[in-house]
Amino acid sequence: MDAIPSRLDTLLIHAGEPMPRIEGAVSIPIFQSATFQYGGQADYHALRYIRLNNTPNHIALHQKLAALENAEAALVTASGMAAITTTLLTLLSVGDHLLAQDCLYGGTHDFVTRALPGFGIEHDFIDPDDPASWETKLRPRTRAIYVETLSNPLLQVADLESVVAFARAHGLVSIVDNTFTSPVNFRPPELGFDLSLHSGTKYLNGHNDLVAGAVIGRGDLVEQIKRQLDLLGGSLDPHAAFLLHRGMKTLAVRVRHQNQSALQIARFLEAHPAVERVHYPGLETHPRHARARSLFDGFGGMLSFDLKGGVEAAERLLGRLTLAISAPSLGGVETLITRPATTSHAGMAPDDRRRLGITDGLVRLSVGIEAPEDLIADFARALAP
Ligand code: PLP
Repeated sequence: MDAIPSRLDTLLIHAGEPMPRIEGAVSIPIFQSATFQYGGQADYHALRYIRLNNTPNHIALHQKLAALENAEAALVTASGMAAITTTLLTLLSVGDHLLAQDCLYGGTHDFVTRALPGFGIEHDFIDPDDPASWETKLRPRTRAIYVETLSNPLLQVADLESVVAFARAHGLVSIVDNTFTSPVNFRPPELGFDLSLHSGTKYLNGHNDLVAGAVIGRGDLVEQIKRQLDLLGGSLDPHAAFLLHRGMKTLAVRVRHQNQSALQIARFLEAHPAVERVHYPGLETHPRHARARSLFDGFGGMLSFDLKGGVEAAERLLGRLTLAISAPSLGGVETLITRPATTSHAGMAPDDRRRLGITDGLVRLSVGIEAPEDLIADFARALAP
C-alpha cells in the first residue's frame, strides 16, 4: 500500500494496521497466545512473548500511537501508572534528581514523593508557569523535567515551550503527561518533547472499560523503557490491547465533540450564580487562555469548578445530578464527576492540596459525548436552590 495520508483522522483508522490484513480481517484479531514459536532470535528482548510487549496486538498499537504524535516510537503498558513509573525508573537511578511540576496527578505525585526516595532518587517541585525559577532548582545530577499538558485537576497550562528549551539547554530529558489533551488536541513530540506519556484508560480508549498506558517519543528512549518494562512486567494484555485499538479509532470524533461540549458547559457554569469559579482553558477568563489557544488544537473535555457553598454544596450537586456519574477517572463517553479531594488527589496531604489551590469542595468534570443541552439542563436542575 502507498504511504498513508498523514491527517490524524486517517492515521487513527489506518496507521499500524497489519498489511496484508490477517486472513483478510478488517479488525486486527486478538492474539491471545502467551508465547510464539522460537524464530532464532539472539536477543532475549526479541523473543515473542506477551510480557516482552511484542505480540501483533502490541506492535499495531505502537505503530499507530507513534504515527498519531508524529514520534519515532511508542510503547503500550498495563496502565498509565505503569507508563509513568517504568519511564522514571528507566531514566533515573540512585543519586539522580528530578524536576517535576508542583501540581501533578495524585498517583504521580505519590510515586515521586513516596516511592522514588526509596530508590535514592530525589526531586524538587517547580512552578510550571515560572521558568525563571527553575534554574535555582537544578543540581549536577538532575536528569529529567516532568510536567503535564493540562494539570489535573486545576487545568493549568504549563509553559511547555520553555520546558522543552530548558531541557535542551541543560541536557535533561523532557517528559510530559499528555493524557488530558490527547493526540487530537496536542502532540508533544512536535513541540520537541522527548517523551509523551498517557493513561490510555482515559481518552485513548474512551469507554471506561479498561486500564492501559502509553509512552511515545524518541526511539532510543522508548527502546530503553521497553527493555525495563520487559523486566518490570507491566505489559498490556492482548485482549486489553485489542479494546484499546478499537477505542482509539473513534478518538478524533469523540474528542472534538468533547471540546465543544466542555466549552458550552464551562460557559454555563461560569455564568451561574451558585458557582464561585471555573477552571477551563477555553474560557477567556482562564489566566493562560492565550497560551492554550496557541499550543492546542482544542481545549479538551475536562474542567473543574468551586461552588459558593464549598464541600456541602458540591456533595449536594453530586447527589442531585442524574446524567453525570459520580466516579473517579475521565476521558470516556460517559460524563463523570468527582471531588478530587476524596478520589484522584486523596493521597496528597491536605496542606499540599490547599497550597496548590485544590480546595476540598473542588468538583472535577469529565464531559462525555452525551448531548451538551441535556448535560446543561441536568446541571441547571441540580444547582437550583
Ligand atoms: N495521568 C493522569 C493525568 C491521570 O489522570 C491518571 C489517572 O487518573 C494517570 C496518569 C494514571 O493512569 P492509570 O489509572 O491508567 O494508571
